[in-house]
Amino acid sequence: MIQRLLIANRGEIACRIIRTARAMGIATVAVYSTVDRRARHVQEADMAMALSGARPSESYLDMTQLLDAARASGADAIHPGYGFLSENPAFARAVAEAGLTLIGPPASAIEAMGDKAAAKALMAQAGVPLVPGYHGTDQSPAAFARAAEQIGFPILLKASAGGGGKGMKIVERADELTAAIESARREALAAFGDDRLLLEKYLIRPRHVEIQIFADHRGNCVFLHERDCSIQRRHQKVLEEAPAPGLEPPLRQAMGQAAVRAARAIGYVGAGTLEFLLDARGDFYFMEMNTRLQVEHPVTEAITGLDLVEWQLRIARGEPLPLTQQQIPLQGHAIEVRLYAEDPDHDFLPASGQLQLYREPLPGPGQRIDSGVREGDEISPWYDPLLGKLIAWGNDREQTRQRLLDLLRRTLVGGIHSNRGFLLRLLQHPAFTAGALDTGFIAQHAAELLPEPTPLPEEFWEQAGRHFLATLPDEPRSDDPASPWARRSGLRLGGPATARLHLQCGDQQRRLYLDPESEPAPSLGAVRRGEVLFVPWQHQIYSVRRHDPLAAAGSHALPEGGLSAPMNGSVVRVLVQPGQQVEAGTALMVLEAMKMEHSVRADRSGTVRQLFFGEGDMVTEGSLLLELEPAGGDSPAAIIE
Ligand code: ADP
Repeated sequence: MIQRLLIANRGEIACRIIRTARAMGIATVAVYSTVDRRARHVQEADMAMALSGARPSESYLDMTQLLDAARASGADAIHPGYGFLSENPAFARAVAEAGLTLIGPPASAIEAMGDKAAAKALMAQAGVPLVPGYHGTDQSPAAFARAAEQIGFPILLKASAGGGGKGMKIVERADELTAAIESARREALAAFGDDRLLLEKYLIRPRHVEIQIFADHRGNCVFLHERDCSIQRRHQKVLEEAPAPGLEPPLRQAMGQAAVRAARAIGYVGAGTLEFLLDARGDFYFMEMNTRLQVEHPVTEAITGLDLVEWQLRIARGEPLPLTQQQIPLQGHAIEVRLYAEDPDHDFLPASGQLQLYREPLPGPGQRIDSGVREGDEISPWYDPLLGKLIAWGNDREQTRQRLLDLLRRTLVGGIHSNRGFLLRLLQHPAFTAGALDTGFIAQHAAELLPEPTPLPEEFWEQAGRHFLATLPDEPRSDDPASPWARRSGLRLGGPATARLHLQCGDQQRRLYLDPESEPAPSLGAVRRGEVLFVPWQHQIYSVRRHDPLAAAGSHALPEGGLSAPMNGSVVRVLVQPGQQVEAGTALMVLEAMKMEHSVRADRSGTVRQLFFGEGDMVTEGSLLLELEPAGGDSPAAIIE
């Protein structure tokens, strides 16, 4: 029996595992690093145990702390998720020695597949087709050169201990080989502490098609069909789908059977994935086996209607596989995109910082979101920058694509670089729509997928400006229709009022003069978060601020309770006196600039303490006008109209 499950992971996968455990009546224990104290997975678990550091080595990779947490919390099983310790045989052994159940394969199976070269030797014995290559123990440059000549260029060097695309080098010509070997060795040594390499024929734009398998403790093994993961940047997946577009049933069958043979050859138990490269002729080659749950498992869940985490838990408690091979459904189509905090314009480098805007839509039919973040979270540089996964499914690929586009459009990310816009372009690219997938897809279509940034058009600024006006806090109006305060556009001393706005977006700026009453507020779905307006425009979400020269000059700290001038101008009227009690919405001063008048109002009730300017005085933007002691305790802000 498993009664209390410790999840040795974080982010979306921890939340995902908690969901199924809860549905099965299993209590959950989260662990968290020092920077994850308030993370979503911590709140969603039944219990949470602190780990002592922020770095992975001091937290989610620290076996001693994890086992201590399991003991202290009374957990009887550990789910490692993916990444971190999920494919570490020493951890699998330590968990078993501590008398706990690991939701994963036996240490021996992890070990057999952990080394790419050793795994290939095993797979060759089991009759699983391999990419032509060299994975021998002779690591001399001469041995690699001989193998490369035999196989023919281009070839690919890989780290035997590798993963995450590190240490991979494409070599086009014989005279580049020596330098490439040296460079790949250095990278492999730095990343994995092991500089052994292997060599493969570099297939030209193959597809990445992988098979999900499951095996129980009684020798049963089945495959849950395939996933196409050809859409990759930096040799890493960004979109996955099932079934693989255009894959004929006999090929599915052949790949599935090869995967089951591979799993049996190493005495596999639990969930695993056999990764293959598939060439244009329909020949497929084993690449590696991942001995854990994959990031992209939801697309398999969508087309089979099964819960893969539930299967993992049931197998771990000794139950047989719930279905035979013939009983495993394959219905419709499913696509997943990975929403990352990363910068597509800079080689998809991970981004960190505050997630100022994060809005997840309510999923409709055929839509699912697996995420692990909330608005306001800090995305730490220590961990994988995956924010979450958006998954859609439907009767066919086109319905699925439309549902995913809808889900993605309604998901808003702001304040940090993300690949949202890139994913929107990807899902709408004609080659993607046509299902013409291969691992070179992003490179081949880079011009459309990663367009050069263009200057923002006038319409953008105008819409953003109108939103700023529309999202100013609502003010109480005067009951007297003759009063200037009855008009949203303020005093009308010198002709029609115009609002002047100075907006900034990235390094672009624009001064705008808008008549607040001339047109209705725009319908575009911009979202205001404090001083920032997030504007979805075409495929991106832009952050627009009101330009603040004082802030730009680095001096913007104002004392608590202060109200400051929104722009340079002169004080035309002072409407209050020191000691006067004011209600929220009371006009305090009227300023004039560029023939426009603005009244400065209190947004909270309070008492005026001090006035710093009188009528006729000139004020500069940001200067403190008066001091207001709030009645409540919250510091007030000026309302400008
Ligand atoms: P890692 O374990 O570092 O992620 P993999 O061996 O899984 O590396 O390969 C990652 C990706 O690199 C594959 O999905 C594929 O796109 C590409 N790749 C790997 N081997 C080859 C090859 N022999 N020919 C062409 N592309 C390859």
